[in-house]
Amino acid sequence: MNAALPGFFAPWAIYAAVLLLHLALPARQLTGYARHEETGEKLRYRLNGTLVAAVSVGLWLAAAYSGLMPWDWLWTVRWPSAAGALTLGLLMSAAAVLPASSRGGSLLAQFYLGRLANPRFFGGRVDAKMFLYLAGAVLLQLHLLAFAAHHFLAFPDDPSPGVVLYVVLFTWFVWDYLVFEHVHLYTYDLFAERLGFKLVWGCLSWYPYFYVVGLWAVADLANPQAPAWLAVLATLIFFAGWTLARGANMQKYVFKRDPDRAFLGRIEPRVLTDGERRLLCSGFWGASRHVNYLGEILMATGLALALGWPLILAPWLYPLYYVALLLPRERDDDRRCAAKYGALWEQYRAAVPWRIVPRVY
Ligand code: NDP
Repeated sequence: MNAALPGFFAPWAIYAAVLLLHLALPARQLTGYARHEETGEKLRYRLNGTLVAAVSVGLWLAAAYSGLMPWDWLWTVRWPSAAGALTLGLLMSAAAVLPASSRGGSLLAQFYLGRLANPRFFGGRVDAKMFLYLAGAVLLQLHLLAFAAHHFLAFPDDPSPGVVLYVVLFTWFVWDYLVFEHVHLYTYDLFAERLGFKLVWGCLSWYPYFYVVGLWAVADLANPQAPAWLAVLATLIFFAGWTLARGANMQKYVFKRDPDRAFLGRIEPRVLTDGERRLLCSGFWGASRHVNYLGEILMATGLALALGWPLILAPWLYPLYYVALLLPRERDDDRRCAAKYGALWEQYRAAVPWRIVPRVY
């Protein structure tokens, strides 16, 4: 049977299943950081990302194990599936933006950046942004498994250890997000961005397809016989990055919830204050103003190296994308914080002069 049509609709079906699981499975109820635009009240969230992802992977395993679907079916249909996700992402972006009231400015800019801040569905049970991140994370995880399965089916006698390392590290990355889903409630896209093409298409089309660009490019190649030291280096770089990103995000999360608490029981929250507002300037937030972005770039570099093909361009597109994403984002956030904190932000800039890379940039 021609797999193009089922492939095209595969992401639609998977996202629908994720939505059903998200609605049906038990969830933690939490107060977030973003506020309702009219009432000013902090928004409440239902979060069950780890459970939804675990059940999704379980269903995928059951379907492949029972022979209902080849282990590498999502690899086989990756092109029509990407076309389906791209189309769905466009349609959903239009659905998120067009019915909402205009915010002024060009339609194109509004389409890209969005109009609504934090739309909710199903009587508030589904927050659109958190659902989109979850849906993208689940499909990314399934792609990792299916693409690796393809490699093992293609090279059963000598599979590449780099593929295994890449999938293990990337799986860590995905589950790190899911386990700390609540911490994500305190990030920029949740409290500062609106729901437009950037976020909708980004989560439904870009995140689960482009992020695996490295494996997409090399799953069909034989074992490169990369030296063991490269795998060790990739792992070290990945976890150095993870420590910076997770550490900084957790330190800020602890600080926002309990400003006087020492992070990890050790790093006292040294702050700059104007008497009313406070900015952290110790620990990760004393190293640079966005050391978490450096962490993300290092993790992506570790993933690119893990595959064992350092001279192929495609795996490097992933860390390059982070550089292109996070450098302007840091500038945007810096402008936003300068407007929000005024002279206090100037003090912070003077105390912590580095934007992303301590002592370099
Ligand atoms: P941050 O977590 O750095 O959040 C920036 C906000 O934190 C500011 O707007 C300000 O908000 C607050 N803040 C800044 N400095 C201080 C300080 N010194 N003390 C206290 N509060 C401060 O950035 P993002 O939200 O952009 O990123 C969050 C995480 O998500 C990062 O690790 C990032 O790398 C990651 N990320 C991952 C992506 C991926 O695809 N994997 C994509 C994009 C980001 P306020 O004062 O209003 O609270």
